[in-house]
Amino acid sequence: MNIDLPAVPLPERDALSAPYWAALDAGRHVYQRCTACAHAWLPARGECPRCLSAHSRWETASGAARLISWVVYHTAFHPAFKERLPYTVAVVELREGPRLITNIIDSDPETLRIDQPLRLVIERESGVAVPRYAVAVPLVSAAVGDVRAVKAFR
Ligand SMILES: [Zn+2]
Repeated sequence: MNIDLPAVPLPERDALSAPYWAALDAGRHVYQRCTACAHAWLPARGECPRCLSAHSRWETASGAARLISWVVYHTAFHPAFKERLPYTVAVVELREGPRLITNIIDSDPETLRIDQPLRLVIERESGVAVPRYAVAVPLVSAAVGDVRAVKAFR
């Protein structure tokens, strides 16, 4: 690592998001679920985005997700990311429903496809646990041999 690189911007924590970051630090990716209407969401917020109830609980995600959309960055808009180029920023949908913006890692961006099954990989960024996703099952092999892998997300 180049010690002259600027520090990577880290997530802001507050009382509302503290359980989220604590769970990641313990190896679990959690999301909030409304106890009034059962809607689930990310990121942390004080009221349900569907019914505005202030009552929710934290649930642990399975780690399975699918790819909704992505872009490949070839320009570092923060100097800390210069040595990571190119990297992928994506909208990912957890099997349980919530969506988040994250990175797709360990994957050739040219092979990514909409609905691609993904799996959670918790990485450490300057000591802070962050959720990232990697390809779980390539869609090519799923289409040829195992359609269930794709249908599991429908
Ligand atoms: Zn609700």
